Amino acid sequence: MRSVLRPPAPRKATRRNGAGRSTAPRPARSGPRRPRLHVLVTAGPTREHIDAVRYLTNESSGRMGFAVAEAAARRGHRVTLVAGPVHLPTPAGVTRIDVVSARDMLAAARTAFRSADALVMAAAVADFRPRRRIAGKWRKKDGDSETAVLELVRNPDILATLGRAKGRGGGLPARRVVGFALETGAGERRALAKLRRKNADWIVLNDDSALNAERASVILFGSDGSRRRLRPRTKREIAAVLVDLVER
Ligand code: C5P
Repeated sequence: MRSVLRPPAPRKATRRNGAGRSTAPRPARSGPRRPRLHVLVTAGPTREHIDAVRYLTNESSGRMGFAVAEAAARRGHRVTLVAGPVHLPTPAGVTRIDVVSARDMLAAARTAFRSADALVMAAAVADFRPRRRIAGKWRKKDGDSETAVLELVRNPDILATLGRAKGRGGGLPARRVVGFALETGAGERRALAKLRRKNADWIVLNDDSALNAERASVILFGSDGSRRRLRPRTKREIAAVLVDLVER
């Protein structure tokens, strides 16, 4: 049995009071009431096809993004999860949109972002895709050389594209944008550069030990200059901290 909150009286929009955000009913819970947000989460890898049966991808399991989607839905938020190809069940209460390539992900995320209050961009988007997808199967020809050249072109940067568009105008607070940086060296410098380049509010720095793992240790860099290290903990626990950030 769920109880329904009465819609609040209109208030001037600020980040703190959340006016202008979705006021749809949310499950009652103990503790202070939070506005119900529309949280957009991306998760998993993208797959960039070379031909009908081959593609470029990466090791992302999608666990971090799915954990964020689950944590946000548990708090009563409306959640849209745009997922690359992963083998994970959809968390309860989450609207899932499955995509394959980076361009598919951008299209789905862009549409959902229009009504979103926050974006958590946990997907491991492939930076490049083959210039063209070969119809059918790429055949090696008899007598050909031992090497082949695959020409790649850069994919759109989804986080940077949406980060640039996060302001909503009309007195509404800007959408909160969280990105990830998986680095194997010079992590802090690169994470800070990404924070600026992608116009994010936070960047979550982790390293390759987080790939496919149950636990991770991360550092959160805020555009306000803040820096917070989270000692090793489960992705579920990290997800809860990230939902706290977008609720602030
Ligand atoms: O530049 P880098 O790939 O390290 O940035 C990581 C962050 O940017 C992640 O949040 C990832 O989801 C996002 N990203 C993106 N589109 C890309 C590449 C990365 O949104 N093409």
